[in-house]
Amino acid sequence: MAGMSDETAVPGPAPARSNLWLESRYRKLRRGLPQTIFYCPRCKGDRRRRRGCPQCDGFGKLTRESVQELIGRRLVPQMQAKEGRFHGAGREDIDVLMLGQGRPFVFEVLGARNPNVDLEALREDIVARAEGAIELAPFVRVDRPRVVYWKETHFDKVYRAEVVVDAPVAAARIAAAAAFDGVITQRTPQRVAHRRADLARERAVRVLGLQPLADDRLELKVLCQHGTYVKEWISGDEQRSAPSLADLLGVGARCDVLDVLEIMTDGVEGPRLAPRESSQPAARGDA
Ligand SMILES: [Zn+2]
Repeated sequence: MAGMSDETAVPGPAPARSNLWLESRYRKLRRGLPQTIFYCPRCKGDRRRRRGCPQCDGFGKLTRESVQELIGRRLVPQMQAKEGRFHGAGREDIDVLMLGQGRPFVFEVLGARNPNVDLEALREDIVARAEGAIELAPFVRVDRPRVVYWKETHFDKVYRAEVVVDAPVAAARIAAAAAFDGVITQRTPQRVAHRRADLARERAVRVLGLQPLADDRLELKVLCQHGTYVKEWISGDEQRSAPSLADLLGVGARCDVLDVLEIMTDGVEGPRLAPRESSQPAARGDA
């Protein structure tokens, strides 16, 4: 305002608080980084209960940071917001990289007093301070329904895995497994059965590539319907996934390294599975 300097300005009422939604995609380039805050399962990070907790030594969390925290610890203070909430389009396991064009998410900012920050400068700041752990696509302001869109829409995914096999596999057997394009039946994996209903579901899987890296190691590229548990499809999870890659190879197999190469959202080029009629319940996660 003309004639008004900082010295003469009287503090007015605090600016109004507003909520906003920022959409982007993250690439996760460091293993061991969870998508969201990894609260200690024993004390749940509760302020009082975490004191003296033997599982987290009172830290309340099992990892120092997460994709959510790398973003929120810069974004929330700069926007002078009360809280940030992370809504991902699914999630990969903590030990799985997220490559390709990255995983879509919406960061919900609650109670921002300073919502009009330079989003590109903010993005660069977040990425620089993450020291190579994550990269972000430019933030786009969206409306709240985008949260629901990403939560409820399912996409095929392409994975790369390094598979360890119990015994060398003949080239012909590898070639046969490399041609697999079909439907598998998967029961809820043993590792998540304690928190999810034990269901048998059909999932479409197409092997895109399979080649030896060493006598006991293969590189797999595979296109999976949403909700496929890839690690269990590789091992068979004690016959809970069938036919598994281990079945196709005729030897014991397990996933040693896993990366999401791409999430086949609209606009991302690459292979797609044929749409299938399905009344199967959707899985909440993947990988
Ligand atoms: Zn704890």
